[in-house]
Amino acid sequence: MIDPFGRTITYLRVSVTDRCDFRCVYCMAEEMTFLPKSELLTLEELDRVCSAFVRLGVRKLRLTGGEPLVRRDIMTLFRSLGRHLATGALDELTLTTNGSQLARYAAQLRECGVGRINVSLDTLDPAKFTEITRRGRLDVVLEGLKAAKAAGLAVKVNTVALRGVNEDEFDDLVAWTGEQGFDLVFIEVMPMGDIGGENRLEQYLPLSLVRARLQRRWTLEETDYRTGGPARYVNVRETGRRLGFITPLTHNFCESCNRVRMTCTGTLYMCLGQEDAADLRTPLRQSEGDAALEAAIREAIDRKPKGHDFIIDRRHNRPSVSRHMSVTGG
Ligand code: SAM
Ligand code: SF4
Repeated sequence: MIDPFGRTITYLRVSVTDRCDFRCVYCMAEEMTFLPKSELLTLEELDRVCSAFVRLGVRKLRLTGGEPLVRRDIMTLFRSLGRHLATGALDELTLTTNGSQLARYAAQLRECGVGRINVSLDTLDPAKFTEITRRGRLDVVLEGLKAAKAAGLAVKVNTVALRGVNEDEFDDLVAWTGEQGFDLVFIEVMPMGDIGGENRLEQYLPLSLVRARLQRRWTLEETDYRTGGPARYVNVRETGRRLGFITPLTHNFCESCNRVRMTCTGTLYMCLGQEDAADLRTPLRQSEGDAALEAAIREAIDRKPKGHDFIIDRRHNRPSVSRHMSVTGG
């Protein structure tokens, strides 16, 4: 699949549920209305759509959410998608998780062929962790990370940089992830979805500043390592680990975008930062064959926009797109 700007689409991210056991302050409001379960694609339908994408050239699948590991029987989907790894049709099956259920699932994920996972962790301070997630517990996530390591999963930690909240911990996070053998990626807050009383302008911390501060303590060596994603990586000489920066607001990374995202209701978003979308649920349910579905996917890729235009400043202190990250899948 090649889009109108010559980019080959090889990566699909699927939000398998909009629900979550956390309510992170930058992601959700305290009170959220979730979709009725009847609107969700079933696990079999999710498998069918993902498999259609694999036939059309997708080489990497990431399940995300909401929290993917709170969807009931989600291991059934991982297990069935794992067959595409076995045949060589898929290079990678992975997930992004808040880690709360990892202690239970890490070994099973490894058995399904998952090799690397992204775990979101913004702080190493238990009280702050509960404050940011509004209901999570740091010790549970740390147990999950231990289980992931024991299962042989490679871990990349995602940390959202939050002004005045975790900015005093970045050196500690680099040191700790280094000791654990995890890579670390910092993310800028993106203006997605209403988050209740929280103020994005107050949360926003440009990563250019974070990087400049880290350089006082760490030797950051340039590398041309790329994952095809938005992160720019350096090597931290002292820890020997990679450190990434995702800067949707200060740098645009759209020219190399190879991905599309689907919600748990079968809506395909061709860009995280744009509203245009394609309905895949209707063609999926229209017939048992996949011809209509594949046609709808191709037609959607033909409409993939050139890029997004997120901005946060005083005049734009509103979401650029109304849907939450948990809907499209981070
Ligand atoms: N629940 C899982 C988790 O937290 O890893 C997966 C879904 S979550 C939406 C995926 C990633 O998006 C997380 O790393 C989270 O920190 C990030 N995220 C959520 N809302 C964001 C926002 N407004 N700006 C930047 N990153 C955000
Ligand atoms: Fe849940 Fe992930 Fe959003 Fe936090 S960032 S509320 S863990 S979906």
